[in-house]
Amino acid sequence: MSWTMWLVPPIITSIFFVLGIITLYWSIFTWVTAKVESSSKPYNLKRVQVLLGTTCAVVSVFALQLIVRDTHLSWTFTNFQLLLLIFVAYFLQLKIPNWLILLAGVGFMLMNGNVTAILSWGYTFLFVFFYMISYQQSTHLWRAPYTRYITVALGFGMALWLFVKFRFHLPWGTYWIEIADYAVLASLMYGYFRIQDKDRRIKDRLFQSANWDALTHVQNYAAYDHAIGYHFHQSVAHKKNLAMVMFDIDHFKRVNDTYGHLAGDEVLKQVASTVASTIKSINPEIILYRTGGEEFNILLPGYDINRSRPVAEAAFDAVKALKIPYNEEILQVTISVGVSVLHEGDHNPLDFYKRVDANLYHSKKNGRQQITIG
Ligand code: GH3
Ligand code: MG
Ligand code: MG
Repeated sequence: MSWTMWLVPPIITSIFFVLGIITLYWSIFTWVTAKVESSSKPYNLKRVQVLLGTTCAVVSVFALQLIVRDTHLSWTFTNFQLLLLIFVAYFLQLKIPNWLILLAGVGFMLMNGNVTAILSWGYTFLFVFFYMISYQQSTHLWRAPYTRYITVALGFGMALWLFVKFRFHLPWGTYWIEIADYAVLASLMYGYFRIQDKDRRIKDRLFQSANWDALTHVQNYAAYDHAIGYHFHQSVAHKKNLAMVMFDIDHFKRVNDTYGHLAGDEVLKQVASTVASTIKSINPEIILYRTGGEEFNILLPGYDINRSRPVAEAAFDAVKALKIPYNEEILQVTISVGVSVLHEGDHNPLDFYKRVDANLYHSKKNGRQQITIG
């Protein structure tokens, strides 16, 4: 059978085109997310998602339109244009200023040689309105989301296609075929996106539970291990400072033995959240990790001894001042702290860690409730 026998109806081609765009988007998104995550730098997932989604969608539609621009066939990709709008506004929930959508619409008209047509202007304004409503729909937790989605999508779709029908003198038959195609594609996109999004949420949750401590809601040992590896190699390669502050709650076993394990848990939560917010107010970039039962670690990329001292002192003072109400009692704890910086002779993260640990041990041996720096 030769290729010319492959008489595939346009709706089938459209289905695979739309699914292809979404799949391409998710593949690139997953790849970029994995890349950003493995660099262990803080990143904004939503920003990455929005940037990629818009680029994929806009590039695909503008590229398609270039094929048919300025001809009597300029209307051919109207459905893709509408689906692009839904994808960006409804699924990616990208808030674009209305004037910018209007500008893009006018750009599209210029590209198609339609700026003098009144109907094209009507279409462009309605298009902006469609975007506003779609975005609003997506950001509210309405009941019956699919019914709302398809009602809005079809309502605007039919109105917009009316402009196209009259502008290009299309027969009613074409109008209804296009509307039917659009309804199928919009529904399909909804289902496909929901499946993909669910998959992404599961991955997010796995990532979250693998790197965050469920009790204290700070990052855990796995995250610390990853970060120290990254910062150690970065600091060695670029000859930059790196400091570490490690602390352990004093006589924590007594808290458990006297007030019970739940009281101990409460102390851990309060200590973690207090220290986390204290260091965040000094520098939002530095992170607290729970590396053991009642042992925590703060990594300070770019910090020398003099800069890390106030961080250690702030954490120490914050815990000391902390009063934790528990069953009519007020619990108070202190910490012992060890601080050190990366030395030239450190061959691996463990060499560095051992020195910080030795300083913490020194604080413990020396009577606890103190900071050892060196
Ligand atoms: P030191 O001042 O020498 O650090 O004494 P300590 O009692 O704090 O140290 P030790 O290592 O003897 O005891 C730590 C205790 O922390 C033992 C363990 O049961 C408790 N612990 C570890 N993880 C948790 C937890 O998640 N919740 C609670 N409640 N206790 C925990
Ligand atoms: Mg302890
Ligand atoms: Mg301990």
